[in-house]
Amino acid sequence: MKKAFLSTLYTALAAGTLLTPSLSTAAGDPVKKAIGDESPGGRRVVKTNAEWKKILTPEQYYILREHGTERAFTSPLNDNHAHGTFVCAACKNPLFASDTKFDSGTGWPSFFKPIAKDAVKEKVDKAYGMVRTEILCSVCDGHLGHVFDDGPKPTGLRYCMNGDAMLFDKK
Ligand SMILES: [Zn+2]
Repeated sequence: MKKAFLSTLYTALAAGTLLTPSLSTAAGDPVKKAIGDESPGGRRVVKTNAEWKKILTPEQYYILREHGTERAFTSPLNDNHAHGTFVCAACKNPLFASDTKFDSGTGWPSFFKPIAKDAVKEKVDKAYGMVRTEILCSVCDGHLGHVFDDGPKPTGLRYCMNGDAMLFDKK
């Protein structure tokens, strides 16, 4: 499949039908593998949009399935300081431990690392004229938020999450 695509691309290049600036788009955006491409135990949850609409609230659906962003300071999980685990609201995949949560002042729940390296996956997001790294649930591909490199020690990362994309499992 990939080989066929590449040979089509090369044919197009040879024919001079592709200009250089469109080459990267034609080849697709690279999906980062730094955090891991595998889900825990290879678990996958795949549903149609209609099925997701039945089990998610409209706000959860907007964030998780339509890559939306909640308004800052609106999620109760932003101010949640209890001990426990933040899990994906769609598939219950454990995402972040409470002891990695910090107050970023942004109004969105923020963490310096995921609970496991395969809990989430990263994708380059070029929406709104910015290049950001999107964070997705590794089990259901639900949109959770973005990661930035202005976080605290020990990782220096800031996982800026939508609280409505998560549920909290109190210990
Ligand atoms: Zn999920």
